[in-house]
Amino acid sequence: MIPASLLKVVLPGEVYPFCLGEKHSGGGFAAASRGNTEYKKTWEAGVVFDAHIHLEQYDNLDERIKRWREAGVKQVTAVSNDLASSYRTLEIKERYPDVVRAGCGFHPEQPLPETSEWEEWKCLVKLEREHIACIGEIGLPHYELDYLPSPLEAYEEFLAECLLVARELKLPAALHAVHDKAELAFDILRREAPAVPAHFHWLKAPEDVVARITKAGYMVSVTPEVCYRERDQRLAAAVPPDRLLVETDGPWPFQGPFAGMETTPELLHDVIATLAGITGEKEADLAARTQKNAERMYGGM
Ligand SMILES: [Zn+2]
Repeated sequence: MIPASLLKVVLPGEVYPFCLGEKHSGGGFAAASRGNTEYKKTWEAGVVFDAHIHLEQYDNLDERIKRWREAGVKQVTAVSNDLASSYRTLEIKERYPDVVRAGCGFHPEQPLPETSEWEEWKCLVKLEREHIACIGEIGLPHYELDYLPSPLEAYEEFLAECLLVARELKLPAALHAVHDKAELAFDILRREAPAVPAHFHWLKAPEDVVARITKAGYMVSVTPEVCYRERDQRLAAAVPPDRLLVETDGPWPFQGPFAGMETTPELLHDVIATLAGITGEKEADLAARTQKNAERMYGGM
């Protein structure tokens, strides 16, 4: 499905050490992949949709996806960090078409792409449009901003460019925009591409900004951090039922009850249980609701 002419120019994959700061817990992606503590709980809450995961950063996907499916994971939205990662995600999508919703994008917590990479990426997403479920992960840098070679304004312009591609291809956007960057990204979205559906993944933002985001119809997701962090629990309680998604951002490693454990969509069992405790719903109902929301955003099967 990916033309050979394009495959030849793929750069070797790189994993960027983005998202340091508060999210950084010392291990990073490499350590997460080494995790050997398996998640052993029985899944009783029906099926679940992991709305944001970096699937191309896992190995042994045949074995893993088989296990995740047995654990009730119906689908995942697999986002990408750059051109090479977008190619890898599309290859994974081709191998597991029923499970994977593919996202192609440029993670904002890293240097902006070279023009040639950007041009090739635009060509790729146009060619592969029918296999792509979203433009993402895109957004604005926060954790790495002080260490990046370009100023925030350059990232604002680049986000606007990415959103124009989403608008042109009629695809939703998977956004990384946290703290004071959430409102900034929201304003760019409203200004540049108000009709593009968007998902503010692992959102951390003031209450009034969360309200603006959800009132405008955008989705918000929580990660396994909601199981042990009050800030995320408050956010989950504030998000309207039809705007909430669950995700792992795997293989990002988590702390609390998940310390030392590999991050996989199976952890969403605990996320669903925690959310059910917050909303008073049955776990199965909550899992079904977030599943439906994710299907609305990223397309179901
Ligand atoms: Zn991510």
